[in-house]
Amino acid sequence: MDKSTLAIIVPCFNELDMLPQTNERLGALLGGMMRDGIVSDDSYILYVDDGSRDGTWQLIEGYVGSHVRGLKLAGNVGHQNALMAGLETANVDADVTITIDADLQDDINVIPEMIRKFDAGNDIVYGVRRKREHDSFSKRTSARLFYKLMEDMGAKTIDNHADFRLMSSRAVSALCDYEERNLFLRGLVPQIGYQSDVVYYDRLSREAGESKYPFSKMLSFAIDGVTSFSVKPLNLIFYLGTIFLLISLAILVYVIVSLCRGNGVQGWASLMLSIWFVGGCLLICLSIIAVYIGRIYTEGKHRPRYHIEKYVK
Ligand code: UDP
Ligand code: MG
Repeated sequence: MDKSTLAIIVPCFNELDMLPQTNERLGALLGGMMRDGIVSDDSYILYVDDGSRDGTWQLIEGYVGSHVRGLKLAGNVGHQNALMAGLETANVDADVTITIDADLQDDINVIPEMIRKFDAGNDIVYGVRRKREHDSFSKRTSARLFYKLMEDMGAKTIDNHADFRLMSSRAVSALCDYEERNLFLRGLVPQIGYQSDVVYYDRLSREAGESKYPFSKMLSFAIDGVTSFSVKPLNLIFYLGTIFLLISLAILVYVIVSLCRGNGVQGWASLMLSIWFVGGCLLICLSIIAVYIGRIYTEGKHRPRYHIEKYVK
């Protein structure tokens, strides 16, 4: 069997501190794999600069050579879109792609194992974290909550899998057929349905630079994830409405009883309470609807996901 051409896709956003290390380690790994005949000699690393403002692109341009390419996006479009840009670009001449974060928190030493599983006939190989003791407590808990929530909402995701994954060329082509703009790759890829497998690794800590996912970004990512794959929040409105109807019935009974007892003025408290209660619930419901309308709005525009400013190889 011919050896496959591998493209390792690395999205970079302000990774000036981390990139030298990353490039050295990935380069060494790829060199080793080419020497050992695991992948073809045309294999390469593709750095996708997601609109960095700290000179990351200049660094990438310096690395470009026979096994390193650089793709500069015209602005910051976010991790998921940057990944898509890299996948679509590499899919032109690579047989297989692996996406990995620039901070190398995912263990690159399992990459040869991924390739083995690809050679064994899998179109998708997910990297799955065994433990995350190096992540902060809040990151760990929020991540666990998020995966649990996704599961409850009925979205198919791989537990503890981020965006460290191998995809065959036809899996990437299939992914490109999904035209949605609110991208949530780790929910989309399992929907493709080709034969897949997992490799396990221990998640390491970020060695340089800061996490580009502060809590606010993670929250919006989570909302994106849930609303991309589930209409369950819409059903929630119905249940909430039913409960409020029952509560208002109870209040009605209370009012009638107190009227019969002749102390009707005391109803003020319950009246105020229910006004606020109902008002609050209406707002919650409205906000859920607003999220969906917002999504219809962004999808309806069919805007391009990214623009390429430069591709050097
Ligand atoms: N990233 C990106 N665009 C962004 C934010 C992040 O391309 O707008 C990249 C970043 O350079 C890194 C990866 O996405 O390679 C994951 O980011 P990070 O490690 O900061 O996230 P965390 O591991 O903390 O979830
Ligand atoms: Mg990271």
